[in-house]
Amino acid sequence: MIPISKPLIGEAEKQAVLDVLDSGMLVQGPRVKALEERFAKVCGTEYAVATSSGTTALHLALLAHDVGPGDEVITTAFTFVATVSSILFTGARPVFVDIDEQTFNVVPELIEQAVTPRTKAIMPVHLYGHPCDMDAILDIAQRRNLVVVEDAAQAVGATYRGKAAGGFGTGCFSLYATKNVMSGEGGMITTDDEAVAERCRLLRSHGSRQRYYYDFLGYNLRMSDLHAAIGLAQIARLDEFTARRRANAAYLNQHITSVVTPTVQDGCEHVWHQYTVRVNGGRDRDAAVASLSEAGVGTGVFYPMPLHQQGYIREIVGEVRLPVTERLAQEVISLPVHPQLSQADLEQIVTAVNAL
Ligand SMILES: *Cc1c(COP(=O)(O)O)cnc(C)c1O
Repeated sequence: MIPISKPLIGEAEKQAVLDVLDSGMLVQGPRVKALEERFAKVCGTEYAVATSSGTTALHLALLAHDVGPGDEVITTAFTFVATVSSILFTGARPVFVDIDEQTFNVVPELIEQAVTPRTKAIMPVHLYGHPCDMDAILDIAQRRNLVVVEDAAQAVGATYRGKAAGGFGTGCFSLYATKNVMSGEGGMITTDDEAVAERCRLLRSHGSRQRYYYDFLGYNLRMSDLHAAIGLAQIARLDEFTARRRANAAYLNQHITSVVTPTVQDGCEHVWHQYTVRVNGGRDRDAAVASLSEAGVGTGVFYPMPLHQQGYIREIVGEVRLPVTERLAQEVISLPVHPQLSQADLEQIVTAVNAL
């Protein structure tokens, strides 16, 4: 079976972990700082703050912007649950808007319509590694005085009009094992705002500036040096990983004829965290998944149930209709696009998909 994702763990990753073990500095050593510097560079931001996961990066970024009870955060329901749970952790309310069927990302005009006096932030998600329409989103944010917290968990290295995802507002990344750059578990916050960076640093470590003195209630959401060491070995290969994903996606786009293949908007550089096709026109997606599996092609459905339909979230936000989101949740299939695919794998995928 060709897996839908496969972390590329080489000698560099293994040696990096052994070096940390040998150093005896498992936490709060030099590697977390080095990884932060690398991320800031990739995103073109002044600061980066490493955390324990993408989920905690989102949570801390919202807290650092004073998002809390009584506030609304406009986002998408076609995303991983952490986008919304991080909003709920703060006591704020997620407000869902529908998405574009080409990019799977939020539609800026719908964000504008959803703004109320309670709106505090917009949380665009660069889904599958395709950047959102950031000019339009930043324009709304500026006119309505809103914070932008980007969920860039899937989009490390993606660019919009030459500028990196995570560099527009406060960016949040995940280094979870299946992400384009991984550390096993891990997260990163990127920002140009010194006060936000400082608040994230304090929040991730007990609200403490000086050991055993505490300014406010904080958490322990730090990244360990063991994880950072893996992340450093990975991010050194970001360009190579991305180039392979792009080449794989280009091959699939060129040869797949039986389903709707993904597109890239002008001005965007996609990083293909997922390569997602649509089985549309009322065809049976789940049967397609089963027949691909039979042909040895692993797939993923991201995501089968949009978040506004999940029981506990529906209890909070009430009935919401998002027609495009709901339809795409029935149509999407992600195919393997990861850097370890061989030419034979790509041909096997194309043959299986074109036989649907
Ligand atoms: C992976 C992911 C997250 C959460 O990251 P974790 O590191 O798993 O906590 C958040 N949002 C999106 C869109 C993701 O894909």
